[in-house]
Amino acid sequence: MTATPTGPSARTSAGTAIRSAEVLVTSPGRNFVTLRVVTEDGVVGLGDATLNGRELAVASYLTDHVVPLLLGRDAHRIEDTWQLLYRSAYWRRGPVTMSAIAAVDMALWDIKARLAGMPLHQLLGGASRTGIMAYGHASGRDVPELLDSIRAQLAEGFRAIRVQTAVPGIDKVYGVSARPSTSGRYDYEPAQRAPLPAEEDWDSAAYLRHVPGVLEAVRNEFGPALPLLHDAHHRLTPIQAARLGKALEPYDLFWLEDCTPAENQETLRLVRAHTTTPLAIGEVFNTVWDYQTLLREQLIDYVRSSVTHAGGITALRRILDAAAQYQIKSGLHGPTDVSPVGMAAALHLDLAIHNFGIQEYMQHSGATESVFRTSFRWEGGYLHPGEHPGLGVEYDDDAASRFPYQAAYLPFTRLKDGTVHDW
Ligand SMILES: [Mg+2]
Repeated sequence: MTATPTGPSARTSAGTAIRSAEVLVTSPGRNFVTLRVVTEDGVVGLGDATLNGRELAVASYLTDHVVPLLLGRDAHRIEDTWQLLYRSAYWRRGPVTMSAIAAVDMALWDIKARLAGMPLHQLLGGASRTGIMAYGHASGRDVPELLDSIRAQLAEGFRAIRVQTAVPGIDKVYGVSARPSTSGRYDYEPAQRAPLPAEEDWDSAAYLRHVPGVLEAVRNEFGPALPLLHDAHHRLTPIQAARLGKALEPYDLFWLEDCTPAENQETLRLVRAHTTTPLAIGEVFNTVWDYQTLLREQLIDYVRSSVTHAGGITALRRILDAAAQYQIKSGLHGPTDVSPVGMAAALHLDLAIHNFGIQEYMQHSGATESVFRTSFRWEGGYLHPGEHPGLGVEYDDDAASRFPYQAAYLPFTRLKDGTVHDW
């Protein structure tokens, strides 16, 4: 007898069979895609499938192609389900596929942990630390505004800060808020609600001239101990990235992020050969294979993937275990387009793994928190996922229904002569 693609043994009539799987799209301040899986016994699991600017592609991938495969399967079979979704599509990898697989994986881990009556980190091996060190964001249109923004983040409790600054001669620079808040939550959202993406300008030479002086001013103001991070956001060539890493060495960065696009991992050899500034890469990566050269040749210091975009807890754990062989640590991506479900999954993983480095934390808006009720805590610069069974997140359908999807896109960049550049 020929087996069906899902395999008869994966199906069950027990209470843990998947009764329904539903894709929820809501937009409380920004768009989110959530997968809700329910077992025959009524146990609910949530997964984050949000892919900023391509939300509906993942929603369709799930609804049209994944949900039919899930119905009737045993929710306990996480590894088998992951392998089925990865291998049975024939077309492997890519952000849409891997975000969809991630949502299923998170939802099944949520169900398993709820059934066990334990917070998820217990099933991942238990806590390896008491809290998760998080970094906040600060930016300024000039140095005095940046220093005020850093003070506001320190007042919020952050003990590590990513600093971004405007550059003279460039209209709009990635990571710089139009009006940095001087108190409370740091509010920066690059995706703009519009039918088409916005266009921004860029000049790498002007940026390279400007940034070292800004970091020097920040160090002079806040002293040597404050961990500082900076994101070059894929804008530089390898030799430019090497030059920047070298120029920033006196200011002792915690990391320099995405100094150059790393689709071609070998280009990082050149950067690494020239600078001891720690490097963080990988927020746009989807699989362990995207990291193969970077890990084996020790070309980076921090893995930047999110649970949401790298195939879920199952797959990101594999990447982080591979990284651990080389003393490379985690620095998981945590912008507001990682939903509270994806953030909760990250926090359970952060708490459990040994090679934790730092966690990015952009606090979600009040509107987002009205839809996703979380149990995670923020105290004294440290996050904790809480002790609720599962991921510790509940989805409020009534609140979500007040925020219908609106098209929103990340901007793109052109050089002064009109050439499309890396945003
Ligand atoms: Mg980044």
